[in-house]
Amino acid sequence: MKIFISADIEGTTGITVWTECEKGKPDYEEFQKQMTAEVVAACEGAMEGGAREIIIKDAHDTARNIIVSKLPENVKLIREWSGHPFQMVQGLDESFDAAIFTGYHSRAGSDTNPLAHTFTDSVMYIKVNGRFASEFLINSYSAAYVGVPVVMVTGDKGICEEAKGVNPGILTVPVSEGEGTSNISIHPNLAVKKIKETAKKAVSGDLSKCKIELPGKSEVEILYKDNRLAYKTSFYPGARLEGTHTIKFESNDYFDVLRLLSFMK
Ligand SMILES: [Zn+2]
Repeated sequence: MKIFISADIEGTTGITVWTECEKGKPDYEEFQKQMTAEVVAACEGAMEGGAREIIIKDAHDTARNIIVSKLPENVKLIREWSGHPFQMVQGLDESFDAAIFTGYHSRAGSDTNPLAHTFTDSVMYIKVNGRFASEFLINSYSAAYVGVPVVMVTGDKGICEEAKGVNPGILTVPVSEGEGTSNISIHPNLAVKKIKETAKKAVSGDLSKCKIELPGKSEVEILYKDNRLAYKTSFYPGARLEGTHTIKFESNDYFDVLRLLSFMK
């Protein structure tokens, strides 16, 4: 069994402020270690559940967060960004049996994680077919594009609840809950235990019950915080400006949506 893991940091246990997500900042190291521990737990659980091949995409910011030497020997890690529109799930293709997302977080415009955003901090929200879009949703559709089910997500309670709404078969490990600028989390070691147990269960279950349908037509709406960025994105082929801050875009091919999202700021 071949498993893909996309690992973010803003849904790592305990993480609360931006300096804890930024490489080079003194606050970062503790959460870099925890992010790594959670990815290792997902790998170990997946291997106990039958995974023989695991590819991990480090999917946060520099994409150089995971401490490579801590990973099990038989996994591969994708660091940095190739520029492929799959972005956080770069490397995912039809050859995988299932995908796992770790350290994921609530979407832009939500109040369930103090670090809530969708890809960039410059938007109030992104909607796809009228649904508020998280990175989980966008990346789940990317997985669906290549026919791969997402069987597990770990992160804040908000994203875990959203994930269940998108993909009722998915297993989740909620590790924290945002309230205003604060964050209430479980113990990091307990999170690691739960992630390992859940990953084992997720990959050994019926993977097909986590398959979701890709929308035939995608209508994207992006509300920018800054009208100047909306103006700039309006020149992307097929994009149009509505009012001063909103971009609209439609396509019958979901890959076009990913192209737009990879070029927008
Ligand atoms: Zn991130």
